[in-house]
Amino acid sequence: MTHLLHRSTRIQPRRAVAAQGLTITDSEGRDYIDACGGAAVSCLGHGHPEVIAALHRQADTVAYAHTGFFTTEAAEALGDRLVADAPDGIGHAYLVSGGSEAVEAALKLARQYATERGEDGRRHVIARRQSYHGNTLGALAAGGNEWRRAQFRPLLMETHHIAPCFAYREQEEGESEAEYAARAAGELEAKIRELGPESVLAFVAEPVVGATAGAVPPVGDYFKRIREICDRHGVLLILDEVMCGMGRTGTLHACEQEGIAPDLMTVAKGLGGGYQPIGAVLLSQKIFDAISGGSGFFQHGHTYMGHPMAAAAALAVQEVIARDDLLANVREMGGHLRDRLTEGFGAHPHVGDIRGRGLFQAIELVADRETKAPFDPGLKLHARIKAAAMEEGLMVYPMGGTIDGVRGDHVLLAPPFIVERADIDRIVARLGRAVDHALGEIA
Ligand code: PMP
Repeated sequence: MTHLLHRSTRIQPRRAVAAQGLTITDSEGRDYIDACGGAAVSCLGHGHPEVIAALHRQADTVAYAHTGFFTTEAAEALGDRLVADAPDGIGHAYLVSGGSEAVEAALKLARQYATERGEDGRRHVIARRQSYHGNTLGALAAGGNEWRRAQFRPLLMETHHIAPCFAYREQEEGESEAEYAARAAGELEAKIRELGPESVLAFVAEPVVGATAGAVPPVGDYFKRIREICDRHGVLLILDEVMCGMGRTGTLHACEQEGIAPDLMTVAKGLGGGYQPIGAVLLSQKIFDAISGGSGFFQHGHTYMGHPMAAAAALAVQEVIARDDLLANVREMGGHLRDRLTEGFGAHPHVGDIRGRGLFQAIELVADRETKAPFDPGLKLHARIKAAAMEEGLMVYPMGGTIDGVRGDHVLLAPPFIVERADIDRIVARLGRAVDHALGEIA
């Protein structure tokens, strides 16, 4: 027994002793296919020699220098690269250590933008019910996952939640996709009017919802409408691409597929591919200009921001992805994964929905396909599937989410961008056996 605190006090995770490519090996010599990149992190697979070489070089040069005193070549190069590849209007990148830190920084940048412009009254943050933005208090307050928030509610800043864009669960019978997109986006307009437009600071959303619902893409022109509503009311649009960004959906940023650009964007997981802890906030030039023309100082910072080892790892990861055109593989293998999931689960009596983009795909499990009724949450079907998959030598990312009182079980697949056809065939076959095993346990 170790004194290291794991999240669960009951379940001791297996010990990983080696990791290469798509495979993690445990201390008993068992191999697991990493079909979820941990939590959609390991985009390049494990043990990539070029990333490891870049880390060695950086460690031999400057392993750490506090940003209050120095900048480094690695951090500057990563900032430049992120901005060069960013959506329109993004002018700067702020490097932090992970997704929650990025969300906290984005919220504070938004607030500082308002105060620098003399709009002190702007304070309300609006987000969506089916969302996860991180576990630190500000990010947790923004997120709409009640299971994660409930016991900390007294500590959370006030935030406002509207419905997500979640067609499988929320689109009504007889309602077209366009009508549904308009209705879902209309919730933002209504909430801004209810709060008073000049009191609203920002709207935060994941373009493709990750950890609460399992790869839920928006429909129709939902995000175009959201962009237009934010602009009309002077509300900043923060897109949280911590999970769905950096190539996961087949384009570098998920919002490219929506034809919009945010005012602030957070990225993390796939940025460093797990080789180092790193996240970033991409901010529009107008936010930079407001701060630069005002106090000239972002009132926020962390000891490890702009860490050169993390920046060097992220640079190497991003260079390999671009050089090997791995986003083309994400699109092609994403299509293959979707086909295989449809073949394997399309007629499954307990799979209600198969959804996602690129190598970010999920299945939703239901007790009844007709009524879409979820399984009793007490059965913990998602956890059973995870355990059964590990027995099959497969890592998948399962979750139980709640949307407007309905709790569902989902399994998310987010394999590394280097995945090949045969790997996907193996992943879906093993997942099929794990799902059936778990369903057999609760039958
Ligand atoms: N935002 C989103 C969309 C996420 O999926 C996550 C992590 N699952 C976070 C923020 C928080 O990131 P981290 O765990 O690196 O703090």
